[in-house]
Amino acid sequence: MRIHHLNCGSMCPRGGRLFGGSGGPWAPAPMCCHCLLIESDDGLILVDSGLGVEDVADPSRLGFLFNALTGPRLQVSETALRQVADLGFSVADVRHIVPTHLDLDHAGGLPDFPGASVHVYAPELKAALNPPTLIERNRYRAVQLTGVAKWAPVEPGGEDWYGFSSVRALPGARDDVLLIPLPGHSRGHCGVAVSTGHGWLLHCGDAYFHHAEVAPAGGRAPAGIRWFESRVNVDKAARVANQKRLQQLARDHGGEVKLICSHDPAELAACRS
Ligand SMILES: [Zn+2]
Repeated sequence: MRIHHLNCGSMCPRGGRLFGGSGGPWAPAPMCCHCLLIESDDGLILVDSGLGVEDVADPSRLGFLFNALTGPRLQVSETALRQVADLGFSVADVRHIVPTHLDLDHAGGLPDFPGASVHVYAPELKAALNPPTLIERNRYRAVQLTGVAKWAPVEPGGEDWYGFSSVRALPGARDDVLLIPLPGHSRGHCGVAVSTGHGWLLHCGDAYFHHAEVAPAGGRAPAGIRWFESRVNVDKAARVANQKRLQQLARDHGGEVKLICSHDPAELAACRS
């Protein structure tokens, strides 16, 4: 399967070195929304969808807080819909979307593909459609989610995958795209493992934010990122434990499994080089 690495939403929060950029705390610290577009024998599969066309046209869909804190660039050219077209495909070619979770910066592009089935982990869909807390009512945007035509919730269960539980994301016998539950950042947050033919690419979504957090030798993200991670998680203990498991996976199986996350521009650049 051919895999394209897309940035479906540049953001530019202030924070400088504290957020992985350079300079002082008022300097911009670029972040991306790293999504995958997979060419498969069953059409195109999109892993995460970033921000969508309607979000670019009407940024109020994203809420004041998100816009103020993350400084999204909001360019149509960065939407998955436009990048699919730029690669020579049609919107109908995207048959499946597999979100890591449904936060607004991951679900914005879902309504742009009305013909695609959205294979989301059932606990995440439940939380997103009926947010139990005020914070969750803000992070999940009803205006994005009500535009999704074909939900295909994936129930918990499945098989062992490098010591993690895994669930087949797509219908039928396909075992080359797996949901790997990694709760903590959100209730039903998952990684998405994609078989590349010579190993696995594990899209970890927001289970970590900076490559140092899963470095085989161990490491820490810049202080601002660590602060942010702890502010937006629903279960800190689960998030920290899962991040540790991912670091151990990178250490013990780094030759077979390559880890990426959503918002680290250095990882995206490395994948594209
Ligand atoms: Zn995110």
